[in-house]
Amino acid sequence: RPRVLSGIQPTADSFHLGNYLGAVRQWVGMQETHDAFYFIADLHALSVNPSPAELRRRTRVSAAQLFGAGIDPERSTLFVQSHIRQHSELAWILICNTGMGEAARMTQFKDKAAKSGEASAGVGLFTYPILQAADILMYQADQVPVGGDQKQHLELTRDLAQRFNNRYGETFTVPDPYILKEVEKIGDLQEPQAKMSKSSSSPQGILEVLDDPAPLRKKVMRAVTDTGSEVLADPENKPGVTNLLRVLSVLTGTPIPELETRYEGQGYGAFKKDVAEAVADTFTPIRERTEKLMSDETELDRLLAVGARRAEAIAVETMAKVRDHIGLLPKG
Ligand code: ATP
Ligand code: MG
Repeated sequence: RPRVLSGIQPTADSFHLGNYLGAVRQWVGMQETHDAFYFIADLHALSVNPSPAELRRRTRVSAAQLFGAGIDPERSTLFVQSHIRQHSELAWILICNTGMGEAARMTQFKDKAAKSGEASAGVGLFTYPILQAADILMYQADQVPVGGDQKQHLELTRDLAQRFNNRYGETFTVPDPYILKEVEKIGDLQEPQAKMSKSSSSPQGILEVLDDPAPLRKKVMRAVTDTGSEVLADPENKPGVTNLLRVLSVLTGTPIPELETRYEGQGYGAFKKDVAEAVADTFTPIRERTEKLMSDETELDRLLAVGARRAEAIAVETMAKVRDHIGLLPKG
């Protein structure tokens, strides 16, 4: 079985439709066919300095949402990144094998740093793609299911793996990104050209997994559509409608041309109503299961401890190899 690994940051209380369609939905499907490792990227979340209470709460509710979305603790290894100390250790080693120039090319850093001004942005935000490479290479992953915004980080991960293998001998599996074209970038409802994002979307622009059906419906009905009244996929001229068409298409398993025919001559109203319903129908059972899991923190923490034990066994193995290959002395 090929191995799959992916993570999600606890940078908000709820995941959103982009996280679900671009990543988590694939994670659930891949448990059937892959040796699956998934984690809550709490060390990555530190790059934006959350309060301790916020980080603790968001880490637990993120785990609960993943279980609620269908990650099965029997078949998958789900863990909290910081429970495996080796991630930080490998990150440092990879940092020492990364050029300033190649790190500085990362567009996500530029985007996120632009908000505060590049000079005052944290160093953690700058090095985070290298920690991400460590996360992936640690588990010798073959495939990494992510949204399109992670394409460049995966390229960096592959470069670092190849360089390390060339310098120090075969150590890491070189991973492939697994990105589904139709859902690689779910747009913000108010700004459909921008990606829906936990940390930068406005409340009106984001459909949260833990939202109730009423606000979900309201937000979809108020989503920016485009001039005209035809329900047609046209990314250039109708980014808003195209975004909603993609969502309805994957959630209902209906090809886009069939949807275009179905709503012909009906305007946007009926179409948006169906989008809202499909989203609410998908999120409601996840929200209910998440609430149930959150009512028993002891059990949730126990499941995460089981995941950590399984993940740690592999991390220990990889790090023994890495330390030996680069010439760090054993403790004796
Ligand atoms: P942040 O704004 O804090 O970076 P985020 O919304 O980008 O949060 P992440 O935790 O960084 O979420 O990413 C988790 C996964 O969701 C990644 O695989 C990422 O590529 C994917 N993803 C995030 N946003 C979208 C989106 N709008 N469309 C498709 N996939 C997405
Ligand atoms: Mg992100």
